Amino acid sequence: MNLDEAVDYAARLHALVDELTEPLRRRHAGRLACRAGCAGCCQDGLTVFAVEAELIRRRHGALLAGGQPHEAGACAFLDEAGRCRIYADRPYVCRTQGLPLRWAEEAAEGGAVERRDICPLNDGRDEAGGARFLPVELLAPEDCWTLGPVEARLRAVQVAASGGADRVALRALFARAADGE
Ligand code: SF4
Repeated sequence: MNLDEAVDYAARLHALVDELTEPLRRRHAGRLACRAGCAGCCQDGLTVFAVEAELIRRRHGALLAGGQPHEAGACAFLDEAGRCRIYADRPYVCRTQGLPLRWAEEAAEGGAVERRDICPLNDGRDEAGGARFLPVELLAPEDCWTLGPVEARLRAVQVAASGGADRVALRALFARAADGE
């Protein structure tokens, strides 16, 4: 697989993830506080597979060449109002944030154990700590986004394109543009 094909695959995978997460967003609409300007998930230091970085580089060349990264402490792609400047082309990791998440981890005693998490703003509790919605631990599996399969597909595409699971820091994209890469 060449780089063009890999970047195209990543873009189509992003579109598929949006399609698959939309029913979850509708189902959990009452508890999701996610909105433009809420940037709690947009941490500094995020890395993505190089094919996703290349997708951003190809579609946002002007921003990378002429724009300034957000100051350190939050994602370089945030603007001053806390909005993502590459929202349509944001990486996979950004497309599932805020949803109830579930994933498998190796258990110390062997086998796998399921973990779950959700943004504290979406945990379904009111200001007094009362439960307005089911805790994430009690949700049906199909009411959560399962981490792992999409990451595995992205990794496989990255390896097919470059021979390794190369990752790039989002902030480094600005530095590379400044260096003319
Ligand atoms: S790429 Fe956009 S959505 Fe993702 S962490 Fe950065 S600002 Fe947030």
